[in-house]
Amino acid sequence: MSRPESLNDLFVQKLKHVYDAEQRLAKTLPKLSKAAAAPQLKQAFETHLKQTEAHVERAEQLFGFFNQKPHADTNDNIKGILSAGDDVIGLKADPPVKDAALIAAAQCAEHYEIAEYGTLRAWARVLGKTEAVRLLDRTLEEEKNADLKLTDCASSLNFQAAAHAH
Ligand code: ZN
Ligand code: FE
Repeated sequence: MSRPESLNDLFVQKLKHVYDAEQRLAKTLPKLSKAAAAPQLKQAFETHLKQTEAHVERAEQLFGFFNQKPHADTNDNIKGILSAGDDVIGLKADPPVKDAALIAAAQCAEHYEIAEYGTLRAWARVLGKTEAVRLLDRTLEEEKNADLKLTDCASSLNFQAAAHAH
């Protein structure tokens, strides 16, 4: 990682990581959807896949506001989160239990993205990049909604998972 000399550099550095994360998530969400049993959960993953594809495009636009070409830098944080997700995808468990594990894994990814986009938005704001703030707002809202939808899924599905313990 090159040494950032300004908040502007930090922003671009983080954006390169976020761009990598979104591309990896776009590849993982279809696998999560396939692994899910509950239709409600499959639907949540499908919806968020479409949003994630838009997040990739928005990230590309964001590079433009900072006079940069889109460039992904390997994001070890999301790689770790997604490798835990891969373990869950391969899990042999009763469907409600596996769904609970899928929700947990996906929420780790969403919370991570919410943290990163919150930071990017705050930095864009102080850097006076109004257009960037607008795009980041939209993406951040969608990440938060995806997380809420997963919480909704969990509130009904986790009861079924708990019932499987007996
Ligand atoms: Zn996203
Ligand atoms: Fe997301």
